[in-house]
Amino acid sequence: MNENHLYPLLLLLAGGVALVVAWVAWRRRRMPEAIPLMILALGMAVWTIAYALHWMSDTPAMLLFWMQLTYVGVTTVPTALLIFFIALTGNGAWLRRPGTLPLLLLEPVVTIAIVFTDGGHGWFAQNWPLTAPGTLLSPGPWFWVNAGYSYLVILAGLFLLVRWLPRAGVLQRRQAAAVITAMLLPIVINVLRLTNVLIVPHLDLTPLTLPFSGIILLFARARYELLGRAPIARDRLLELMTDGVVILDLQDRVVDLNAEGLRLARRNTPEPIGQPARTVFGEWFQVLDNIPLLESSNREVIVHTDPRQVLDLQITPLTDRKARSCGRMLVWRDVSDRYTIQEDRRKLARAVEQSANAIVITDSKGQIEFVNPAFTRVTGYTLEEVQGQNPRVLKSGEQAPEFYRDLWGTIMSGETWQGEFHNRRKDGTLYWEAATISPIRRSDGQITHFVAVKEDITARKEAQDGLKAANEQLRLQLKQIEELQAILREQAIRDPLTDLYNRRFLSEMMPRELLRAGREGYPVSMVMMDIDHFKEFNDTYGHEAGDVVLQTLAAYLEALTRQGDIVCRYGGEELLVVLPNVPLGIAAERAESWRVAFAATPVIYQGQLLHVTFSLGVAAFPIHGQTAEEVFRAADAALYRAKSTGRNCVVVAQAPAGAN
Ligand code: GH3
Ligand code: MG
Ligand code: MG
Repeated sequence: MNENHLYPLLLLLAGGVALVVAWVAWRRRRMPEAIPLMILALGMAVWTIAYALHWMSDTPAMLLFWMQLTYVGVTTVPTALLIFFIALTGNGAWLRRPGTLPLLLLEPVVTIAIVFTDGGHGWFAQNWPLTAPGTLLSPGPWFWVNAGYSYLVILAGLFLLVRWLPRAGVLQRRQAAAVITAMLLPIVINVLRLTNVLIVPHLDLTPLTLPFSGIILLFARARYELLGRAPIARDRLLELMTDGVVILDLQDRVVDLNAEGLRLARRNTPEPIGQPARTVFGEWFQVLDNIPLLESSNREVIVHTDPRQVLDLQITPLTDRKARSCGRMLVWRDVSDRYTIQEDRRKLARAVEQSANAIVITDSKGQIEFVNPAFTRVTGYTLEEVQGQNPRVLKSGEQAPEFYRDLWGTIMSGETWQGEFHNRRKDGTLYWEAATISPIRRSDGQITHFVAVKEDITARKEAQDGLKAANEQLRLQLKQIEELQAILREQAIRDPLTDLYNRRFLSEMMPRELLRAGREGYPVSMVMMDIDHFKEFNDTYGHEAGDVVLQTLAAYLEALTRQGDIVCRYGGEELLVVLPNVPLGIAAERAESWRVAFAATPVIYQGQLLHVTFSLGVAAFPIHGQTAEEVFRAADAALYRAKSTGRNCVVVAQAPAGAN
């Protein structure tokens, strides 16, 4: 077999390998760099297979056509390589920008167009038509444009790769190294050929290196799992898992993550793969700082998102096939709900423990299952002492059986009962408590427990009782005070010796009385009286006897006057009787009757009968004056005249001049 047969076979073999790579890449198409790799491999396949067919052609037309098709592959491969590197280095977003792809594809499309039309103008090669396979093209101007563009594109791709390496994880770096190795071989061979350093006559070795590149890429896939670390079914499972899964390299950079893992990534992270986990997930990833790389760990992590999330996080170290550690896997489950329920329960339990109210929980038969510390404080019984007992251990016997019947009737019918217990503590003392007892029902309505919340109200009760007693006492005192006040009021307006109204009362009452009399047009008469020779009397019988005379006269006048008449002690032994609505004449008559009656009645003092008389002066409003003072003066003047006319008589005041 000469080279003319061997070479196309090798080319076909290379094309087959390229097709396998393309097929594998297609199967891994969910990875971002898979489709560019597939296009790259297809480009290689077109290149090698078309070139093989060129070698097997024997007519100028076939030779030309397969050569032209070969250049479809040749011009595609460098651009596909750049796109592959762009995707591999995590810059896939560039490719999605409008304009990028057309720009990258412009030169290959133009080249392909030129190659297919070259028979006429010779821009690409100048030795058409080809007469034998493997004829070297003698380059036209566009040949060099294309070669330059191809190397520019490949250099740009390598530049991206090199720039990306420091940020890449260990696994990714190994992949990158494999990819560069895979690319280097054809590039070196091609450079040597283009620079005329290495020329095997008639044969282009570049396409022959392509299968090596393909094999290295496949090897890289197998060894470093370039295009996905698991079969598709497992990938799909990982995606569908409700648990978050993230795989990190030894530098804690994200190598892979599933959809749930991505959900917890910060929103502004463009492309999490290859980024430090801290950048992708935020501060909560600090938990990793305290965990040695080779250690499995399980912990609860609180993520301060809104609403807050609680994760049950499992961290597992990963090793490669040689048991070298190569990263770790984080799997987490959102346990926020469970956590919230637990937290609520803890809060509730704390509230019950620390409640100032005594709390008792019994089963449906009333046997105590739980009491809180406040219960022990109030009753003296500990939980151990009352567990399994009936709350009737607290019964004092102070409350009637109907009371308890009402309680049980209420709660057994599913209602809440409220009331006050008079109970007995462990030490025997009695206390009062206000209680609320509620049944707890299962979902089927069956009562399973009763909860009693009780408040010690002994102090309140005692205070209430004390208050009641104090109130009653206060009421009595108030009554006494009122009585005393009435007495005092009377005393202020009464004369202590005779118990008649005093002059103060008179001066307060008279203006009002005269005002009304003036308004209603009735007269008010006044009788002024003075005991005759009283000084003498005192001197003869003693001051005490005089007092008795005054008291007797006062009682006498009180008896003789009518309701509405006012008798008062005007001065020492001068008395005044005010007779509202009594005309002057009638007043004079009544004054005369008092004088006669008193003169006829002896005063009894120490067994002696003492005869006392008095003189009277009568005046009236409005005849003798418009004010009380004026009328008093008129009555006094009349009295004076009575004294001077011989005493023991009544004198009516003279009518003032002009009055009739
Ligand atoms: P006349 O007939 O002119 O009235 O003679 P009289 O002695 O009564 O003179 P006058 O009215 O001026 O006397 C007042 C006397 O009344 C003086 C005093 O001793 C006596 N007197 C005044 N108040 C009291 C009193 O409260 N008790 C007693 N026992 N005597 C009194
Ligand atoms: Mg007098
Ligand atoms: Mg007198």
